[in-house]
Amino acid sequence: MSSTTPIPLPPFRNEPFTDFSSAENKRAMRQALDRIRVELGRTYDLIIGGSDLQTSATFQSLNPANPSEVVGIHYQATTREAGHAVEAAQLAFATWRKTSAADRAALLLRAASLIRQRHLEFCAWLVLEVGKNWGEADADVGECIDFLEFYAREALRLDAATPPIQYPGERNLLRYLPLGVGAVIPPWNFPLAIMAGMTAASIVCGNTVVLKPSPDAPTIAAHFLSLMEEAGLPDGVINLIQGGPEVGRAIVEHPQVRFIAFTGSRKVGLEIHERAAQIQPNQHFLKRTILELGGKDAILVDSDCDLDQAVAGVTASAFGFNGQKCSACSRVIVDAAIYDIFCDRIKEAAEALTQGPPADNLQTGPVINPTAKKRVLDYIAIGRNEGRLLTGGAEVDLPGKGYYIAPTVFADVAPTARIAQEEIFGPVLAVIKSHSFEEALAIANNTQYGLTGSIYSHSREKLDRAGEEFHVGNLYFNRKCTGAMVGAHPFGGFNMSGTDSKAGGPDYLTLFTQAKSIAEKLV
Ligand code: NAD
Repeated sequence: MSSTTPIPLPPFRNEPFTDFSSAENKRAMRQALDRIRVELGRTYDLIIGGSDLQTSATFQSLNPANPSEVVGIHYQATTREAGHAVEAAQLAFATWRKTSAADRAALLLRAASLIRQRHLEFCAWLVLEVGKNWGEADADVGECIDFLEFYAREALRLDAATPPIQYPGERNLLRYLPLGVGAVIPPWNFPLAIMAGMTAASIVCGNTVVLKPSPDAPTIAAHFLSLMEEAGLPDGVINLIQGGPEVGRAIVEHPQVRFIAFTGSRKVGLEIHERAAQIQPNQHFLKRTILELGGKDAILVDSDCDLDQAVAGVTASAFGFNGQKCSACSRVIVDAAIYDIFCDRIKEAAEALTQGPPADNLQTGPVINPTAKKRVLDYIAIGRNEGRLLTGGAEVDLPGKGYYIAPTVFADVAPTARIAQEEIFGPVLAVIKSHSFEEALAIANNTQYGLTGSIYSHSREKLDRAGEEFHVGNLYFNRKCTGAMVGAHPFGGFNMSGTDSKAGGPDYLTLFTQAKSIAEKLV
């Protein structure tokens, strides 16, 4: 693989969003959906050490808007393949760690360029495999390109890291070395951006990985890997195994796995944290965990705010992708002076949302699978005893028999209610009344989580105070609490929302490296 990285690279710029109001882009997106429909139901191999591999069992990935449609069939890995994948990654590490940062960055840049060329095909896979509407799918693909472009630049920056203070009589160096083999375990809800982002950050630093995607989004990962191979990925640098918790556990506890990059639920993240801390026979290092977990994100709506903007921001944050974002607003804390009018307006806004198949690009769609549907409906049943149902509160029967639930809003919810404390990960919003700004902040901070938050207010004093006291990893003023942009909004949460790794930020890649100090006595 030859180095093609132009140095210096042009400054990083976020990928522009696609304008789907244009007739031409609409037509192109429909054509992309038609093109990939021909490929639905194909069987995908595991990829270990650059070789395709089949096992004795398969599982299917289904379209959540139409579960009779099989998106992809995947070979199910067992702990045996998990072990082989780690060995292949270990073998590849010997050479990959010595490949120059420029060559590793060049691989990411070639991948970014290929994804850009197939942007709408990737959008189409996201629409059919996880039920994103066109805009949400476009944002996921754009974020994936951003991560590749951003981490390529960051790897070059780290490689040329400023020398440390020079001690008199010595020459002093600080070099950032890769860690070794990593386990990359992404969630299903940003199945391209987060999956590719954690993988790219790992390999651009010289690590090799075993990638185990979510069983709800295996096809997108398989397409990403095939694109990486096309971009020149050497054998064994990314090993793809498919399956659920059993294979996930096997790679987490493997004695040769040096780090685990995980994004997902609090429950699974805590299990990984604990499992990774248990030293296995023949393990010679402490495992590092990079864990980004769930949220119970709040928006504060002050009496002194632009109500139209607040209603629009809360609606987008709560119901965008049906509330299935770690950053989704699930609590809105509203000042008593405007509480009644806000309740009327949010009900109206939720009821105005269109719902239906993501392929037809409606505003809201289905939740991911029957388990998610049951979980959300169970929380709605709890909510009926904990608040006043303003709208929604039921499943919706639409053609295709997808897992649809109406955008649901409960008012008069106590800050300590279960629907105000536990992550629901679906289209359910709790409205909570506050009687002072002080109380609003206390309510906002009163959960185990601390991922995103937002405040709508015209008061500089309140915004500044929220800047100090609203304890979240990503805080926004007068805008929605979803939609973090790579580079501008480094992303990661406090408390039980994770290790605050700040993906897409200037410190992220150091998590995938170990710094070596070299001091030479001058003669
Ligand atoms: P999940 O925790 O159920 O699964 C995440 C991944 O872990 C999947 O690949 C899954 O197969 C794997 N897994 C499951 N059990 C495992 C085990 N015991 N050992 C190892 N791996 C295991 O999460 P999900 O449903 O895919 O995603 C939704 C969750 O992710 C929500 O809680 C959401 O808030 C969170 N999330 C967080 C962020 C963030 O940046 N903080 C971003 C996106 C999603």
